[in-house]
Amino acid sequence: MSSFIANTKDMQFVLHELLKVSNSDVPGYEEMDRDFTEAVLDAAGKVSSEVLAPLNEVGDKEGCVLENGVVRTPKGFDKAFEAMKEGGWTALDCDPEFGGQGMPYLLNCAVGEMFVSANMAFNMYQGLTHGAYSAIHTHGTDEQKQTYLPKMVTCDWTGTMNLTEPHCGTDLGLMRTKAEPQDDGSYAITGTKIFISAGDHDLSDNVIHLVLAKAPGGGEGTKGVSLFIVPKFLVNEDGSLGERNSLSVGKLEEKMGIHGNATCVMNYDGAKGWLLGDLHKGMRAMFTMMNEARLGVGLQGYAVAEAAYQEAVAYAKDRTQGRDVTGVKAPEKAADPIIVHPDVRRMLMDQKSFVEGARAFTFWGAHLIDRSHALDDAEAEGLISLMTPVIKGFLTDKGFETAVSAQQVFGGHGYTEDWPMSQHVRDARIAMIYEGANGIQALDLVGRKLAQDGGKHVMAFFEMVKAECKSHDDDERMKPFTDALKNASKQLQTAGMFFMQNGMKNPNAALSGSYDFMHLMGHVCLGLMWTRMAKAAFTALDNGASDTAFYEGKIATGRYYMARQLPACAMHLARIETGADPVMALTDDQF
Ligand SMILES: Cc1cc2nc3c(=O)[nH]c(=O)nc-3n(C[C@H](O)[C@H](O)[C@H](O)COP(=O)(O)OP(=O)(O)OC[C@H]3O[C@@H](n4cnc5c(N)ncnc54)[C@H](O)[C@@H]3O)c2cc1C
Repeated sequence: MSSFIANTKDMQFVLHELLKVSNSDVPGYEEMDRDFTEAVLDAAGKVSSEVLAPLNEVGDKEGCVLENGVVRTPKGFDKAFEAMKEGGWTALDCDPEFGGQGMPYLLNCAVGEMFVSANMAFNMYQGLTHGAYSAIHTHGTDEQKQTYLPKMVTCDWTGTMNLTEPHCGTDLGLMRTKAEPQDDGSYAITGTKIFISAGDHDLSDNVIHLVLAKAPGGGEGTKGVSLFIVPKFLVNEDGSLGERNSLSVGKLEEKMGIHGNATCVMNYDGAKGWLLGDLHKGMRAMFTMMNEARLGVGLQGYAVAEAAYQEAVAYAKDRTQGRDVTGVKAPEKAADPIIVHPDVRRMLMDQKSFVEGARAFTFWGAHLIDRSHALDDAEAEGLISLMTPVIKGFLTDKGFETAVSAQQVFGGHGYTEDWPMSQHVRDARIAMIYEGANGIQALDLVGRKLAQDGGKHVMAFFEMVKAECKSHDDDERMKPFTDALKNASKQLQTAGMFFMQNGMKNPNAALSGSYDFMHLMGHVCLGLMWTRMAKAAFTALDNGASDTAFYEGKIATGRYYMARQLPACAMHLARIETGADPVMALTDDQF
């Protein structure tokens, strides 16, 4: 069974020593002093370890089943869901007007990280609900908000997002689901959606589906698409549940991981739906929440990696094989614990330096989202829009790689189902695919985000990195960080120049390098985070912090990332500079 203990200490470090949240000018942050966030994180950590983690294996082994048109979740999920509701965990950052607690999104992310680490599949039921809540909150009429939000805040009713169809995933312009206007102002929705997470289950009284469909008069492609609220049970005027809508679960997908989450084929057969937001502006309505939704998936990437890393550390300290080549460490045993071996250390350092860097990067992203919402801060909005594909694509690719690396620490045992490592690897894999496959994230970054607002945001990012390095000029201890970061940032700028010089002549020259660019930028972002974390750790030590092991460990882990991971930037740049030729050399028939 997987054991998991939330790393609240590191979260507190990021919140208070890196982001300095209680000194921030973001409304709502003034309440986030150390004691307050510690109380919230400790309580959430307890739920993660005691309620969610014990159900992770159960969910994986049992999965969901479809019986007579009804989806049943694994044993224990219902009780755990009630516990989440009772604890108020579903309402943390929701609007108090609808029963939410009005806390910053950043705090919701910190708590969400623990819940995902403990049980990713389970947490998706409330995660999807939160996405649907945000869409209705942003685009709904007053009546829609009053009807749905109070119940969605408490998760008495859960939510889904229905985009994908059998013949259309990335290219949503191919969508066939239709919405026919009815005399009473509603629409009749007809079509089939596939891969719908949390599409149906036995955890809530109602499921509020948000469905993209084509209404007449909108034209071809995504322009004609609108967004609709389609509840499983219609809601009466007094708020009680009415008749069942004409929608059903066609089948449950058999899949590689997240078995505890019901991935449904949804059939809409003239189901009653109501327009959400403007007619023919459905893509815009759905994607208003894109920064949050994609940050949430990036978070899944490193949160599962954190759980896998914790298992790997415990195993490496316990498993004995071979001897330390520099001298026996456990003479009372026939062999030393494998953590003595440099190659095992390498794996653990890769894992630790990624997870901690990713946590800082994601929390910083969540902080930018809070800034952009609460202060209407256009700079923060531009920056998070630029970072979003990097958070999603880089953190989920590396999260999966990290889970595999943690599995490797177990040798053959990690490949069996006796240990939780196989599940972590299988669960982590989906985050690279959904919410826009990672190749599409890279296209978004290079094809859209770099040039957004005349390239203003990427230039601001380069300036930010430069200023960060300069601010440490007088601190010799920071040189390993700033030298590596300056170099990597220069490589990123060179790659950007290559796209500018070659992309217009031949778009494939840019598109062939987009994936490498996303990874190059991911490394620069984590390098920036490690530079800032190292400075915060030095400062704590200078000020006489008692927990020297934590801060010295932080600095050493950061040095590892700069020395051992940032050199990947040179490789990514070299690949980018080869342009399209090596990638496009073969004809289709030569494959
Ligand atoms: C477990 C699971 C849960 C899911 N949950 C949901 C959900 O809740 N709601 C929902 O609506 N959907 C959901 N999805 C669907 C998911 O978002 C899609 O699978 C994903 O967006 C990719 O679409 P596709 O599978 O059709 O792949 P395709 O679009 O066919 O893409 C196949 C490959 O081609 C690449 N590709 C496609 N177009 C281009 C291009 N123009 N340039 C370069 N490369 C390209 C892609 O990157 C990908 O590698 C889920 C999927 C799974 C497996």
